Amino acid sequence: LEKVPSDIEIAMAQTPKPITQLAQEIGILPDELESYGKYKAKVELSVLDRLAHRTDGKYIVIAGITPTPLGEGKSTTTIGLAQALGAELGRPAFACVRQPSQGPTFGIKGGAAGGGYSQVIPMDEFNLHLTGDIHAVTAANNLLAAALDARMFHEATQSDKALYSRLVPTSKGKREFAPLMFKRLKKLGIDKTNPNELTPEEITKFARLDVDPETITWNRVLDTNDRFLRKITLGRNSTEKGHEREAGFDIAVASECMAVLALATSLEDMKNRLGAMVVATSKQGEAITADDIGVTGALAVLMKDTIKPNLMQTLQGTPVFVHAGPFANIAHGNSSILADRVALKLAGTEEGDSADRVGYVLTEGGFGADMGMEKFCNIKCRVSGLTPDATVIVATTRALKMHGGGPDVTPGKPLHETYTKEDLVTLKDGCKNLVQHIKNSRKFGIKVIVAINRFSSDSDAELALVRDEALAGGADAAVVSNHWAEGGEGARALAEAVIATCEGPSNFKFLYDLKLPIEEKITIISKEIYGADGVELSELAAQQVATYTRQGYGDLPICMAKTQYSFSHDPKLKGVPSGFTIPIRAVRLSAGAGFLYPILGEMQTMPGLGTRPGFWEVGVDEAGRVVGLF
Ligand code: ADP
Repeated sequence: LEKVPSDIEIAMAQTPKPITQLAQEIGILPDELESYGKYKAKVELSVLDRLAHRTDGKYIVIAGITPTPLGEGKSTTTIGLAQALGAELGRPAFACVRQPSQGPTFGIKGGAAGGGYSQVIPMDEFNLHLTGDIHAVTAANNLLAAALDARMFHEATQSDKALYSRLVPTSKGKREFAPLMFKRLKKLGIDKTNPNELTPEEITKFARLDVDPETITWNRVLDTNDRFLRKITLGRNSTEKGHEREAGFDIAVASECMAVLALATSLEDMKNRLGAMVVATSKQGEAITADDIGVTGALAVLMKDTIKPNLMQTLQGTPVFVHAGPFANIAHGNSSILADRVALKLAGTEEGDSADRVGYVLTEGGFGADMGMEKFCNIKCRVSGLTPDATVIVATTRALKMHGGGPDVTPGKPLHETYTKEDLVTLKDGCKNLVQHIKNSRKFGIKVIVAINRFSSDSDAELALVRDEALAGGADAAVVSNHWAEGGEGARALAEAVIATCEGPSNFKFLYDLKLPIEEKITIISKEIYGADGVELSELAAQQVATYTRQGYGDLPICMAKTQYSFSHDPKLKGVPSGFTIPIRAVRLSAGAGFLYPILGEMQTMPGLGTRPGFWEVGVDEAGRVVGLF
């Protein structure tokens, strides 16, 4: 294989086409496009109404085996496959990916735009601010956090009457209600529309949220790997009169606001979900929501533009939607429902269209199939009502050898020679990890294509071995793909396998029934997908499960926060571990996004920076170009 230049060199060498031209090529009208500079645009959701009559294109979720910390090329394969389907085979083909967080970009992973000759461009804009969606999510999240603490402070320092007259001010001799206040009265069972008619007891009920500080689950967020903010003390200044409390920061993409964006099905739905977000429990045991705090309208204003999917392009000029960015380990790890829907309609067919007009939408589920794909099926598909036609599971010999007992793979350190020389014994043993992911996908009734992402050091015998093991393990197809080195041309065989596999009907099903008790749903995922013997809830987790069940949130799906480096909760357990019980440290509620969120083992919701983070490489050259992202 020839030497392939660095990702950023390849990306910078290619001039993207104007985004207006791409939009026209894929059938977006000028009125439906809102450009952000020359190469990025947001797409109006009205396109969904205009194309409502179309039959959706084929829907494929790209997942992976349990990865090494270097990543096994899921994004690269998503983009390479889109280039093959679109630019080589001439099919309408859309990649739908997440917006990267600055955490990994400057931390361990570098960019997330794909790699080699399979990338989204301009890759620096993709990896950095894009159109500002993550910033808007951060702003909304932190407004709610500030609103909650301020409200608690005012309740603690004012009488009922003073509080009420400030919340419901008098104008021209009459008290005035903001619209959200009616919503709160209704929730409290006070059937009055005239604020002047409230009794003193009703005034107290209305004015006091009575938040139990011990129950607050709403953290502040920041899109930086800043481990020193994991636990902080708020309110240290004298102006806060001693109202201190312990709190913390999460990474921005773990905010429930981000999950809401990813799962919203319209602007109205996003507003409702933002309003339903629960931040704490009152001393009387009731869930306190963003609606109760009166901040929903402002959150929706901050996030209103985020709802429109961002259009970009691959190195070969085919379309990519970049929209929403929840992590797959501590959040649900899938790009937005709306981007997928828009892409499925643009890739869709109308009456009279020939069969080869059918388009393909490739959407990526983060990390291994036990993480992003499980959540894609059990959470995203439940909300969207969409079902996948197939899954592509990306495998590398590198990660498979690690699962077969190869030494640790550490970013920044040279790879052990097991990984650069032929080693069929270790590789064969590690294939069991791939086979387990294939079997898991079958539990959802999904057809499986294994994409073997070729590295230059892979031998033909190694690639043949992985293909044989994948087919023997139940894959419908297994194809070696060389898109990193060759772009779309290198993924032609993979694209043909995807087209062939999507021909037949699919029998998609969910893994669990929402009506089951919370602990049982957690147990089903742990046993069926992770291979655990069972789960063990901490006292705190058990108490949280009881509270959420009592408050009426028991029917939500489960979003496990788990390490991506093992099927189990312990990153050290490689291959297909067995004989373990999963400790559930806590269970959190994302009532607006619509899931419960158990925290397994030591999982952190704010990553840290290592000794040698990625940012050492990054800079701006004399011409003003970004260098050092990879
Ligand atoms: P994932 O999405 O699975 O985390 P990425 O697609 O982001 O992985 O790839 C991780 C890194 O590995 C990127 O820097 C990419 O350029 C590189 N990479 C991916 N595939 C190959 C390959 N076949 N050969 C060499 N490098 C690759």
